[in-house]
Amino acid sequence: MEELVSLCKRRGFIFQGSEIYGGLQGFYDYGPLGVELKNNIKAAWWRTNVYERDDMEGLDASIIMHRQVLRHSGHEATFSDPMVDNKKNNKRYRLDHLVKDQKADVIAKVAEAMGQSAENFPAVVAALNANPAQASQALRDAGVRDPFSGEVGEWTEPKPFNMMFKTTIGPVADDESYGYLRPETAQGIFTNFKNVVDSTSRRLPFGIAQIGKAFRNEITPRNFIFRVRELEQMEIEFFCTPGTDEEWHEHWLERRLSWWEAQGVPRSKIEILDVPKEDLAHYSKRTYDLMYDYPTLGHEEIEGIANRSDYDLGSHTKNQSELGLVARVEENLDSIAKLTIPHPETNKPVVPFVIEPSAGVDRAMLAVLSEAFTKETLENGNERIVLKLRPHLAPIKVAVIPLARNKAELVDLARSIKNDLQKLGLGRILLEDSGNIGKAYRRHDEVGTPYCVTVDFDTVGKGEDASLTDTVTIRDRDTLAQERVKISELSAYLQAKLR
Ligand code: ATP
Repeated sequence: MEELVSLCKRRGFIFQGSEIYGGLQGFYDYGPLGVELKNNIKAAWWRTNVYERDDMEGLDASIIMHRQVLRHSGHEATFSDPMVDNKKNNKRYRLDHLVKDQKADVIAKVAEAMGQSAENFPAVVAALNANPAQASQALRDAGVRDPFSGEVGEWTEPKPFNMMFKTTIGPVADDESYGYLRPETAQGIFTNFKNVVDSTSRRLPFGIAQIGKAFRNEITPRNFIFRVRELEQMEIEFFCTPGTDEEWHEHWLERRLSWWEAQGVPRSKIEILDVPKEDLAHYSKRTYDLMYDYPTLGHEEIEGIANRSDYDLGSHTKNQSELGLVARVEENLDSIAKLTIPHPETNKPVVPFVIEPSAGVDRAMLAVLSEAFTKETLENGNERIVLKLRPHLAPIKVAVIPLARNKAELVDLARSIKNDLQKLGLGRILLEDSGNIGKAYRRHDEVGTPYCVTVDFDTVGKGEDASLTDTVTIRDRDTLAQERVKISELSAYLQAKLR
């Protein structure tokens, strides 16, 4: 992981946010190559889930939302993590992270004090949350250490900490004029359900897909871009007739695993966690968490696929009591819309069930990079670092390299080849005229460029072999094989390889 983080900075994938002012924890900036990789991941997701299906619509809702949305969604009341303070240094920690980071014997003591087995960590956390006074005592008795100071802490009782960012809207800051930065993109889909149905005439089953930023004031952002405060999500809300939800849940589990595979994240590295009933979020009938085996971190959630029943539309609709909702929802006297759709068989208005595959773009990027990161020893004994990204994800598809940067003839031809290739719409093509071919190859291995095209003296008829005039060398990133190809055939060659 450390090597990957350093490569990301060195080569311009990911930088610490606000770095020149000391950095801001939990915020990252995506650099010249990071933005390309991120865009390619999002495009691949959109292609598979929107363009290649006949039952999906897209959406791009606003980030700042009316407080009523996040109130009725349940986020104001429940979108919180338990936190504890260390009275000795006023440091604050997310309770489960704090305990998880202790040595095994300390975790065992905490678990025992709470009457739980250390094997079942979620149960230990649940017990700590449910009994704040006992929890604080257990943390002290077990000698739980402060990760910052390394000393045994003096721990307060756990308290819930709401993770939503609140912001003032308009010129007057009073009790009424605030909104929230959305903590998930999903709510924009639910609040637009009626707009999308009315404007597209969709019938059940169908889905709405959205990619966008979400914000969570994580108590302890950490592990590079794994847990950040400004994140991006790729979410689908798939609306289906009650009773068909379990089948659709399985469908989406399968579709999502196969998508990850196509991005170079194999099934064998993803554990499917069928979340135990007692750990389910309040809205969920059943949830599969896809736990990818991140280097150093181990199995952590990359995507959640939840069966949310009729909770969401049921929470945001008016006339709730007439709709025969299955989920337990809070009363809503604020909504002005009835969020129903005709039942496909009876035509009676029904509140659909929702299956939600929700993946993080940042976590996707970390997984894709982790899988691609490879160190190889070459035949000559040299080591090379190569990012074996799937070509459709590579930030730069082709680097066109003039062998000498001070020979106008070579540079001009390379530029013209670059311009022609760029028109194919394959993604970014780069003119790499740094002058040192060895360095250029090394750099493009490290950033995952699948092909390098070199323009040399033979290309322009000034080399030793006249038969090579109007040909270029193509170097394959993975096999290192070099092939001579006619310039006139270059577009077709690369199109076939990169499509
Ligand atoms: P975790 O338990 O790791 O905090 P979560 O269960 O809160 O995650 P969800 O609310 O299910 O996450 O969000 C859906 C997806 O959004 C996650 O699977 C993850 O990929 C991404 N995500 C959530 N929180 C973050 C974060 N703080 N940083 C980066 N990605 C995140």
